[in-house]
Amino acid sequence: MATFADLGIPFPLFEAPTHEASGYAGLATCRLCKRGDRHCFELGVGDALILPCPACGAENGLPADDRGDVPCRSCGGLIVFPESLVAKKQLLACYDCLRAGKGAITQGTEFGVVSWEQAFEGVTNGVPGLRTEQFEVVAIDPAEDWSGARIPSVHLWELLRTPGFHSWQDERWLFCCSRPMAYLGGWRNAMESLRPDDPDAFYQALFAPEDEARSWGYEEFDEGSSSLYVYRCLACGRCRATYDWD
Ligand SMILES: [Zn+2]
Ligand SMILES: [Zn+2]
Ligand SMILES: [Zn+2]
Repeated sequence: MATFADLGIPFPLFEAPTHEASGYAGLATCRLCKRGDRHCFELGVGDALILPCPACGAENGLPADDRGDVPCRSCGGLIVFPESLVAKKQLLACYDCLRAGKGAITQGTEFGVVSWEQAFEGVTNGVPGLRTEQFEVVAIDPAEDWSGARIPSVHLWELLRTPGFHSWQDERWLFCCSRPMAYLGGWRNAMESLRPDDPDAFYQALFAPEDEARSWGYEEFDEGSSSLYVYRCLACGRCRATYDWD
């Protein structure tokens, strides 16, 4: 099964087969740079077009779904959603444009949603009861015990220049060594790419000690690999996983 690296368009954080990527549109004409036959990615609900403010030059995110104008986050001046793009059926950004930061794909993470606003801020949108040793925890709504993680913007932008993937429930991108991990795909794909000597030990190590998935065994995910999502740390090599449950 082909990966984006096989196609010559590698994403450091996405090592899974291309068919797992949710917004991948295949070869098409990029709506941003107008070049044809480019590997394109759809900017959809929650995603953004990134444009500099004509008045002050600060970069801003404009919503890819409702395609409205926005006030500049720096000077407050109006940034107009490009007229040529408003009526397009799909907002497609090619690999080069996405990697250059002209679009931002919103991602769900274990520390809450990350979209362009969080990337500029360097703090995730947060989750209830967040505890982590990897990042400073920032209280967002103390009454609800809702906190975000302070993560260097460079890591958050990398995540937003990475395709999302198909999952039944909301995707929760995992982190290790204070940076986003690389997504490997489902159980089968992790087996194929890593070939661990002891699949059972590998499976157990994917989860925290208290996680009930440890007691299920990997057979649970072997048949339909779509319900386990395996990540690998690019710094230490450790793997972790999330899963969907009924
Ligand atoms: Zn392009
Ligand atoms: Zn401005
Ligand atoms: Zn690590």
